This record gives sequence, C-alpha cells and structure tokens, in this order.
Amino acid sequence: MVKTNEIKLRSAATSLFDVRRWTFDVRCSVCLIFLILCTAAGSVSAQTWYTVKWVNDGDTIVLTNGKRVRYIGINSPEIDHDKQRAQPFGYAAKTFNKQMVLNRKIGLEFDRERHDRYGRLLAYIFLPDGILLNEHMLQKGYAFFLFRKPNLKYNQRLLKAQQEAMKAKKGLWNNWSEQKKRYVGNRNSRRFHMKSCPHARNIKRSNRTYFSTKWDAFKAGYAPASGCIKEFWSYRNSP
Ligand SMILES: [Zn+2]
Repeated sequence: MVKTNEIKLRSAATSLFDVRRWTFDVRCSVCLIFLILCTAAGSVSAQTWYTVKWVNDGDTIVLTNGKRVRYIGINSPEIDHDKQRAQPFGYAAKTFNKQMVLNRKIGLEFDRERHDRYGRLLAYIFLPDGILLNEHMLQKGYAFFLFRKPNLKYNQRLLKAQQEAMKAKKGLWNNWSEQKKRYVGNRNSRRFHMKSCPHARNIKRSNRTYFSTKWDAFKAGYAPASGCIKEFWSYRNSP
C-alpha cells in the first residue's frame, strides 16, 4: 500500500518534472520567437509603410495620407497633359506602375534631399518583397536613369539596371534607330544637349563630353536636357 503510494508519488513527481521541462522548452521557444519578432520589427520599423491611393504615371504617385511622391533616379515618359501628347511608353509605364503599387503597401526610403521644388517627396520605393521599384522600372525599360544631386544613393545600381535593359532592348530601348548627330553632355549635371543649343555653349569646357547618339548619352548615364531635346526617343518606326 505504501509502495504503490510511493510509486504514484514518484510518477506524479516525474510527470511534474516533465511538465516543468516542457514548460522550460516552451519558455525557450517563446523567448526565441520573441527575439525573432523583435528583430523583424526592428527591420520593419527602419522603413515606414504607406498605402498608394493614386498613380499619376511611371514615376509619381499619391499616398493615402495625401503626399505626392516622386521616384528618385528615374524619369518615365510623360502621359498626355496640357495639350501635350503622351510620349512613347508613357501609358505602358503608368499601367505597369499601377500594377506594382496601386492600393498596396510600399516602403519609402529617403536620400539627402527629401522634397523637390514642387513639394513632392523624393523617395526610393520598396515593395514588401524587397524589390526596389525605381530599379525595376528601369529593368523593364519603362523609365530612363536620371542623375540628380544630392540624391545619389543607388545611382550605380540604377544606371546598371538601365544599361542591362538597353542591352536586352526592353521597352523604351526596343526598335531604337537614330542618325548620328552632335550632342554635348555636362559632366556635372549629367544632362546632354544638342550641340547647337545655347545652353551647351555655357557648359564649362572641362565639364563637356561629346556623344554622337542619344543612345550613347543614355548609356553613359546622361539624360536629355528638357527644353532642348524634345524627343528623347528615336525609333525605326515612329510609335
Ligand atoms: Zn540644351
């Protein structure tokens, strides 16, 4: 009788011990999960998430908080506005951008300058899966690289994305054909002009660099000077 009680007691103690061990394991797991969550929360909190309520075109959006955001480092072809006709791939770029972000969460990363002269936020757009959309637009040929100081954080990566899209003849770069002309690039601003443009003559001689095609200028990371080069594109069959 005493023996069976002893056995019962022992087995109870053992099971109690098991439960304790089990609880300890659970505690460890909880700790571990907590740590993982903290780390994850840490990496998420480095980036705030916003929702996109409107897509203007391939490089400009509006957030649900009302802020307008301009993508850093790229320029998408224009869609029609103020009686100006849409540029080639303007609507394709807008449609693609819409597919990527409209009504979705995006992360914003900023560079040295936060706003442009129109009061728009200047940002790198991150999708939840880590895609840098500024780069992705270039990879698809829905934008060209736009150098602008002082926001140069991802410049190398962005230009490389464009060069690869050019090589693969994606989007804007497909069906390209142009006559050789004389263009002058400004090494400081990375804009290029027609050689005949008065602004080209104002570029410091030491900052001048020459191109015989727009293609070569783009490939080197130069963007067409607005007001000077009205058609940045040059296609075999006019689009
Ligand atoms: Zn010019």
